Amino acid sequence: MIIIDGSFGEGGGQILRSSLALSLITGKPFQIRNIRAGRKNPGLMRQHLTAVNAAVEVGQAEVSGNQIGSAILTFSPKTVIARQYHFSVGTAGSTTLVLQTILPALLVADAPSEIILEGGTHNPFAPPYSFLEKVFVPVLRQMGPDIALHLQRPGFYPAGGGCFTVTIQPKARLQRIDIMERGEIIHRSVKAYVANLPKMIGQRELGVIRSRLSWDKNALELIEVTDSHGPGNIVTAEIQSEKITELFTGFGMKGLPADQVPLEMIQEVRDYLDAGVPVGRHLADQIMIPMAMAGGGRFRTLPLTLHSTTNLEILKQFLDIRVEVTKENRNVYQVNISS
Ligand code: AMP
Repeated sequence: MIIIDGSFGEGGGQILRSSLALSLITGKPFQIRNIRAGRKNPGLMRQHLTAVNAAVEVGQAEVSGNQIGSAILTFSPKTVIARQYHFSVGTAGSTTLVLQTILPALLVADAPSEIILEGGTHNPFAPPYSFLEKVFVPVLRQMGPDIALHLQRPGFYPAGGGCFTVTIQPKARLQRIDIMERGEIIHRSVKAYVANLPKMIGQRELGVIRSRLSWDKNALELIEVTDSHGPGNIVTAEIQSEKITELFTGFGMKGLPADQVPLEMIQEVRDYLDAGVPVGRHLADQIMIPMAMAGGGRFRTLPLTLHSTTNLEILKQFLDIRVEVTKENRNVYQVNISS
């Protein structure tokens, strides 16, 4: 049995999700201890539990410790079953993080599947639906499987209530890809989404982005979302290059003035443009498991986050792979995964 220390590295939910994903792929059982030990409210929270229970269903797994607050979990998968699934996070917990847990196994399953996910679709500290649609899923498609996404209703933090579906036509083995260059930039666009809130919030955000990034006025768009259950606000900046599309997000939150919502996103955009790399910080940690499943892959990215370095360590515990991280310069790193 593989033993994972949940307090190691990034020490949060990702160690758990990556371990579940890798256990489903390899069939190897594991036990994780000290789950989220470094966090304010340690142990399994509702959204982690949804991910665990989703993995139990998909992998017909035996499990113990799957209760709220649990600091230890044992998971032994049997067979991955491809079929229709419906997972509801209940609160505004992130649906995309639940998907992150079960998607890799279903990409290489022996039949198609359809997943309906309900809860938050655009949560801070998680990939927003737009990131799946524009960035992550297009990269996965290059590896062989056919994946269709459909957003039925966005669910913003904190009200949630969103819903989207994912249909997967699997491929027995993922194809190796290398993402070393991004090519010329073809298109840039910025969107401010405002749901059940004054339009002025989005206008102020677009004003800040326009003055700081100096992108063409035609690249900016205000979108009034009318079908969301609660209030919500995000801004996204999409950079479409010849070889890859990246997307950066700023999340509006109660108490955070509109002018400040895009600031972190603007910095992320600048870092990405200055470094000239194809893979941004978030895609970097998310692409590692699919690349390892393909037997290897290489990419150029920004300095690795703690999420990424932690993920690489977890990968090595489940799969017989080698990982080489090379520094090109202060802003550019290469990751080479090989078997
Ligand atoms: P954790 O913080 O452990 O729950 O993991 C968060 C996951 O969400 C990681 O895979 C991050 O790369 C991803 N993530 C967080 N924020 C974003 C974002 N703005 N865009 C895309 N992915 C994100």
